[in-house]
Amino acid sequence: MIIVMKARANDEELQEVVKKIEELGYKSHIIHGVERNVIGAVGDERGKAKLQSLGVLSGVENVVPILKPYKLASRDLKSEGTVININGKVKIGGEKIAVIAGPCSVESEEQIVESAHAVKEAGADILRGGAFKPRTSPYSFQGMEKEGLILLAMAGKEAGLPVVTEIMNPQDLDLVARYSDILQIGTRNVQNFALLKEVGRCNKPVLLKRGMSTTIDEFLMSAEYILSEGNNDVMLCERGIRTFETATRNTLDLSCIPVLKEKTHLPVIVDPSHATGFWTYVAPMSYAAVAAGADGLMIEVHPHPEQAESDGIQSLKPEKFAALMKNLEGYKKAAGRL
Ligand code: PEP
Ligand code: MN
Repeated sequence: MIIVMKARANDEELQEVVKKIEELGYKSHIIHGVERNVIGAVGDERGKAKLQSLGVLSGVENVVPILKPYKLASRDLKSEGTVININGKVKIGGEKIAVIAGPCSVESEEQIVESAHAVKEAGADILRGGAFKPRTSPYSFQGMEKEGLILLAMAGKEAGLPVVTEIMNPQDLDLVARYSDILQIGTRNVQNFALLKEVGRCNKPVLLKRGMSTTIDEFLMSAEYILSEGNNDVMLCERGIRTFETATRNTLDLSCIPVLKEKTHLPVIVDPSHATGFWTYVAPMSYAAVAAGADGLMIEVHPHPEQAESDGIQSLKPEKFAALMKNLEGYKKAAGRL
């Protein structure tokens, strides 16, 4: 249910509604709007009729049901787009297109520091680098783990960039959150509900990747798991889905961008590297993503892709990434973005 407060409602009236929601056994989520505040009341679907009675409280304009299965992620609850502030340095979901770039995996100090400086120089906003790697084969490079986290954080600091890295295991939350500004949930863990709940309880922004076989509604339900635990800073990342096509690693579902924009207030990032699997397709798909309304891009960049421990074929050399960033300017302008 959405409890819509009157434009003139004061804080006392708002708090009274919150108290009543909680007495009825529901969780309340206050959304501060420009004109008025709304409160999302979420919990057991069966008793929602009881929430209708809140309509009589002073300061309440209206009580409306949210018909979608996802409640807190829905645009019905919050019509303005969510803007996520990363350490007061970068905003994701605002007018500016946020670019996350860096290697698939952290491999050495030299590699990650060189990557950090290169992507910063080309205009990236956030540095990426995997330390815990979800590999199809147990015999492939699994990541540098804690050492990788330390090197990533150090390289980010040196270049003046916030960092993002994947968390695969709920037990690693404290460790990963200590070194990373954003927690990434990978495609393979999009329905690892224990992990989603765990990151929902911490106060770090989360980059949630779409499962390679999840529908848009299932993807939004995964975001709902994080939001329902109290973490409002969730960004969604389309990274390609499985189709019959084998010419690319996955199929970039560009149409999910306007669909997500309609259904949810959460920012949408596109990862053309994992979506296509080949560096040659990364630039055109980046431009297309911006044209379609994405709020940001996640791009794999490696100083020496031929030596990469993972995903070298889809990684851009720094000079190619710099050229992409330059060409992106025109597309950003055309899309009315900065
Ligand atoms: C990644 O971004 O490092 C990654 C493993 O991507 P995905 O989960 O989309 O495969
Ligand atoms: Mn990768």
